[in-house]
Amino acid sequence: MSDAPTTVRLLVATRTDVGRVRAGNEDAFLAIDDGTLVAVADGMGGHQAGEVASAMAIESLHDGLAQGVPIADAIEAANTAVVTRAARELDLRGMGTTLTAGVLDGSRLVIGHVGDSRCYLLRDGALTQVTTDHSVVAELIAAGELTEAEALVDPRRAMITRALGIDATVQVDVLDLDLEPGDRLLLCSDGLTTMVRDPAIAEILTSEPDRERAAAELVEAANLAGGADNITVLVADVVTDADPVPEADNPDADNPDADDPDADDPDAELEELPAAAEDEASTPRRRWWQRRKHA
Ligand code: MN
Repeated sequence: MSDAPTTVRLLVATRTDVGRVRAGNEDAFLAIDDGTLVAVADGMGGHQAGEVASAMAIESLHDGLAQGVPIADAIEAANTAVVTRAARELDLRGMGTTLTAGVLDGSRLVIGHVGDSRCYLLRDGALTQVTTDHSVVAELIAAGELTEAEALVDPRRAMITRALGIDATVQVDVLDLDLEPGDRLLLCSDGLTTMVRDPAIAEILTSEPDRERAAAELVEAANLAGGADNITVLVADVVTDADPVPEADNPDADNPDADDPDADDPDAELEELPAAAEDEASTPRRRWWQRRKHA
């Protein structure tokens, strides 16, 4: 563990969208914007089972972390929860989900990752994919049998090799990322990355300092490219604890009416939001969480 002199916070913007093709949104996310936890999950399975899987995984992860369980163990417990429920309910057989999550520890982000949702780091204008996809095409690329360009149009591009809900155990990637003020993180589902290439993602993240607008632009770009899948993006700006919102990056500086959910209101509490608050195309079974200020 590094002995970085500062602690940091994450200021988070989230967007999720059903896309242009799918009937429902099976993605889920969690953003606790005092900077402790960010997560994206992409569920799969018929009859809304994917929605159940992604929501369960995120809820289970949150519960585990709240009890002090390390992220890998919390994700394994989430896997058990999804597997157990899928075995009990016929309609939910075969459901599964990706899960990519980050827990802030001082100035370090501890990332737990299963599947093909992604975490990216934008630092000094350069975008780096932090996580490795657990997907058929990623393995083929690593083996030299497919190029990145070919992978983008390969019919197997949605096939993942690891997910929660499939087996009794799951192999979790755990990565430590030392954060610096000025960094920008992106967590996203494959509904973004199968539609929008990394250079275009980098261009949006670099050119739009307002993270809320950057998140909206990413979703828009995926929809303009066809919106073949549900799209979830979580843009997190890394700031120092002492100076939480850099002036140039503060949407409130020129827009006092902006409803910035990132304000560190001590009265804020975790509220469960109905799906309609974010995405009218989703069903009521869908659950997301976000820390919000009291009105
Ligand atoms: Mn997806």
